[in-house]
Amino acid sequence: MPSSAIVLGAGMVGVSAALHLRRRGYDVVLVDRQAPGEGASFGNGGLIQREAVHPHPFPRTMSELLRIAKNRSIDAVYHPLALPGFVSPLLRYWWHSEPARYLHAAQAHARLIATCLDEHLALARGTDAMPLLRPIGWMRLYGDPQRLDAAVAQAEAARSEYGVNFVALDGRGLAAAEPHLIVERAGAIHWTDPFSVSDPHALTLSYARQFTATGGSIARGDAATLQRTASAWRVQTADGPVDAAEVVIALGAAAGEVTRRFGYVPPLFGKRGYHMHYGLRGNAMLNRPVLDTDSGFLLAPMRAGIRLTTGAEFARIDAPPTPVQLARAEPVARTLLPLADRVDAEPWMGVRPCMPDMLPVIGRLPGQPGAWCAFGHAHQGFTLGPTTGRLLAEMMTGAAPFIDPAPYRAERF
Ligand SMILES: Cc1cc2nc3c(=O)[nH]c(=O)nc-3n(C[C@H](O)[C@H](O)[C@H](O)COP(=O)(O)OP(=O)(O)OC[C@H]3O[C@@H](n4cnc5c(N)ncnc54)[C@H](O)[C@@H]3O)c2cc1C
Repeated sequence: MPSSAIVLGAGMVGVSAALHLRRRGYDVVLVDRQAPGEGASFGNGGLIQREAVHPHPFPRTMSELLRIAKNRSIDAVYHPLALPGFVSPLLRYWWHSEPARYLHAAQAHARLIATCLDEHLALARGTDAMPLLRPIGWMRLYGDPQRLDAAVAQAEAARSEYGVNFVALDGRGLAAAEPHLIVERAGAIHWTDPFSVSDPHALTLSYARQFTATGGSIARGDAATLQRTASAWRVQTADGPVDAAEVVIALGAAAGEVTRRFGYVPPLFGKRGYHMHYGLRGNAMLNRPVLDTDSGFLLAPMRAGIRLTTGAEFARIDAPPTPVQLARAEPVARTLLPLADRVDAEPWMGVRPCMPDMLPVIGRLPGQPGAWCAFGHAHQGFTLGPTTGRLLAEMMTGAAPFIDPAPYRAERF
């Protein structure tokens, strides 16, 4: 069975991989236990982050570690009883965040990030996805002038090294750009390249529609049923067993549950996050997403309302939701913007699939011919889905990969 593949997981990464394979003539069945785009890809901040050349490091200063250890911050919290399960990946995360190793990771991350806008456009152009990609960038707000100056210096360095673009705004410039912000801030960095997606779920669904419109199939099924037969990979679906010569594991934070059955145990861990939508009072508007650096949450104008997304929660990925960060962020957000009532009945929760070296796993599943990995994109999986889909499809078809895939290979762990 040449050129046939099962793609497990219909998030932004799996849908993009399936579409790229389909465009190269593969027979593809995309399998998920839910409808497409209902995992982490559903409720994220919607940023296609061309500026995110630096992945999120583990904090290295004692003051930062103590602040997080108190478990009272908005940007990072943890379930104390879950900590034993995080010791190994977090120690490795800390190790990889040492400055010299971090630089290595950032360079490999930046190579993936560099083409993220073009890769989304390559899937979206000429389709109903285009209006969702708003070329308005996003802003990071700073309350402290010294932190703002330091951030501007870092942004200058990123501009000269990685070609990302920004405008530095003082308090007055920020107030002019976002006149409905209530409190004053020292200023902001406006990253001007990124797209802000007005409905992340709709974007994944649009790519999934292209996939089916060009002959791809979508089926409901549990990836845990994946097995190797004499000549193929097989998964059970609601429509019966599906066989294919190759399989792609794109299961986000759940990928390790499947790979470990085939001998590969990645140090994958989850950072959970929440969102809630709000109305705005009177004629207030927010022109683009803003991230309040001092408190660590994002406010993004979306179709459904102003979406507040929270930072990292370290908890078992299957533990019941505990949206304390949302409860802490909401009063601060109300001092920033004239938010009206909550729109959703309950907060949404999703899990960022993270690797300790801050790089995704893209490439062969070790020791399993015909099996491939595409997971671990952490804070930027929505950004990097199409980039990963292209890179993986090039590797699978034997074409020259458009960037060197070596830093993302599974064997590094
Ligand atoms: C609050 C928050 C804000 C974020 N903001 C941004 C942002 O602004 N920009 C950005 O780029 N990224 C952002 N991210 C990260 C981004 O959402 C993720 O990196 C990305 O969605 C991961 O995509 P994925 O396809 O790998 O995983 P998912 O979207 O989680 O897809 C995995 C799929 O696998 C399926 N699955 C799992 N187990 C099984 C099984 N056993 N059988 C069948 N199917 C299964 C799930 O149903 C799911 O559909 C954010 C994340 C969070 C939580």
